[in-house]
Amino acid sequence: MKYILALDAGTTSNRAILFDQLGNIHSVAQKEFQQFFPHPGWVEQNPKEIVSTTLAMAVEAIVQGNIPRESIAAIGITNQRETTIVWDRKTGEPIYNAIVWQCRRTADQAEELKKKGYTNAIREKTGLVIDAYFSATKIKYILDAVPGSYERAKKGELAFGTVDSYLLYHLTGGKVHATDPSNACRTMLYNIVEEKWDEEILELLDIPKEILPEVKDSNALFGESDPQLFGRSIPISGILGDQQAALFGQMCFDKGEVKNTYGTGAFVLMNTGGEPIFSQHGLLTSIAWKLKGEISYALEGSIFTCGSAISWLKNEMNFIEKPEDSEKMAQSVEDTNGVFFVPAFTGLGTPYWDSNARGTLLGLSNGTKKEHIVRATLESIALMSYDVIHAMELDSGIEHSLLKVDGGVAKNEFLLEFQANILQEEVQRSKTLESTALGACFMAGLGVGLYKDTEEIKKMCEDNTIFTPNMDLSTRNEILSRWHNAIKTASYFGDGTKLPEED
Ligand code: ADP
Repeated sequence: MKYILALDAGTTSNRAILFDQLGNIHSVAQKEFQQFFPHPGWVEQNPKEIVSTTLAMAVEAIVQGNIPRESIAAIGITNQRETTIVWDRKTGEPIYNAIVWQCRRTADQAEELKKKGYTNAIREKTGLVIDAYFSATKIKYILDAVPGSYERAKKGELAFGTVDSYLLYHLTGGKVHATDPSNACRTMLYNIVEEKWDEEILELLDIPKEILPEVKDSNALFGESDPQLFGRSIPISGILGDQQAALFGQMCFDKGEVKNTYGTGAFVLMNTGGEPIFSQHGLLTSIAWKLKGEISYALEGSIFTCGSAISWLKNEMNFIEKPEDSEKMAQSVEDTNGVFFVPAFTGLGTPYWDSNARGTLLGLSNGTKKEHIVRATLESIALMSYDVIHAMELDSGIEHSLLKVDGGVAKNEFLLEFQANILQEEVQRSKTLESTALGACFMAGLGVGLYKDTEEIKKMCEDNTIFTPNMDLSTRNEILSRWHNAIKTASYFGDGTKLPEED
C-alpha cells in the first residue's frame, strides 16, 4: 500500500492527513494557529507559524500512521486562498505578517480601481470582481508599508506567494518558488485566458514582476521535500486552492458537475470545462486546475452565512445546545409554519450582492415556536444554495443533475433532504467530508503517476449517501417564490438586491 500526505493549510488551523492510495484516511493531525486583528476589519497571521504548525502536523500524522517512510509516494498541498506573504528570497524571512483573505484594509484601494473604471478590464482578464479580498492590493500594501521593498523586489531579493508557495519554499529548503493556476487566479494579477501574469495589471498596481512565483500545472513535480524534514525526500506533486481542491476531491472532473461545501460559509463551484464563462449574475470565474497541460475552469459562488447561522442559533439564541440538535428540532415540526429567515448577518453574497442587507425574520404568529425558526434557518441555507446554483445554470447554459456536498453542516440530513427537494434533483454526500484534503491527495497521486488518470480515481469505491427529492413541485415553487420575497425584504435595509430570473 502506498500513502499520500495531504497538507491542508486552512484559515484557522493546519491539518495533515495521511491517505492510503484508495483515498481512505489513515491518520490525521490538526492544530490551530494564532490570528491577529490589529484594527477592526484587519486580519493577519504569522507566516512562520503557518509553516511550523504545518510541518509539525505532517510529522505527527506520519508518526501516528506508523508506516514505513518509503511508502509515502507524494505530498499534496491545499490552502486558504488569496492570503498574501512577501518574504526574503534568501532567508525565507517574511518582511510583513501574512495579510489574510478576510482582511479589509485595502478596501479603499480596491474602490479607487473601480472608480477609475477598471471593473470590466479586470473581470475580462482575471474572472474576478475588483475587491480587497484578492492578493493584488495586499501585495501593494506590503511593498508600500516596508521601506526599501520596491527596490529589493526589483532586484529579485523578495518573493511573493500565497500560502501554498510559502509552504513549498520551506518544504524544499528554499529551492522552489512556484504556485499552481488555481491559486494564481485568485491574486487578481493572473490572466486566466492567456494563462500568464498580466503585465498591464502589474503596471497599474506598480507591482514588480520579479517577485512573482512560477506557475506550474496543478499536478507538476514542484520539487522534493528537504530530506531533513521527514527522514527522506518526498516529491511534492499536487497543489490546489481549497475550494478547487474540494471540487477535485468530490470527483467533479467533468464539465457541468457541481459541489457545495457547507462550512462556516458555503462555497459552490461548477466545473465549466475548457472555456472560461464570464458571469452575468455575480459569480466569479476561476481556474479549477491545470492537469497534464489541460485547463479546467470553474464558476464560483459564495454564501457568507451557513454554519455561522447554526452557531448563532446555539450561542446567541440558545435555541440549541449542539449544532446537531438543529436536525431533530427541524424534523419535529411539519414545516416552518409560514416562517422565513434570511440570515444576512454580514450582507448577502452571490447572486444577490447586497453588503448592507441584514438578517430578517418574517411570518411570525402566536403559534411560532423556536423549532420553526430553527427549521427556517436550515431551509435558508438550502434556498441560498439554490439561488447560486440556479445562477450558474443561467450563466453556463448547463443543466446539471446532481449536487455533491461536503463540509461540517452537511452532517445535517434534514438540510440535505430539503436541498434535494428545492433543487428537484439528487444530492450526494461523500463518505469522507474531507473533500479538500482528498482533492490534494488525488492531484499529488496523479503527479507521481500513482493514478493513471481521473477515470482510475473515479473507479475507487466511494460509499456515498444519496438524498432524493420527494416534495411536490407546487409546494416547492410556493416556497421559492415566498423565499424571494423574503430576500427582497432583507434587502430593504440595504441597497436593493438582484435576483436571478425565476424558473
Ligand atoms: P469550516 O471548515 O468553515 O471551519 P466546518 O466544515 O468544520 O467549517 O463546519 C463547521 C460548522 O458546521 C459549524 O458552524 C457548526 O455549527 C456546523 N455543524 C456541525 N454539525 C452540524 C449539524 N449536524 N447540523 C448543522 N450544522 C452543523
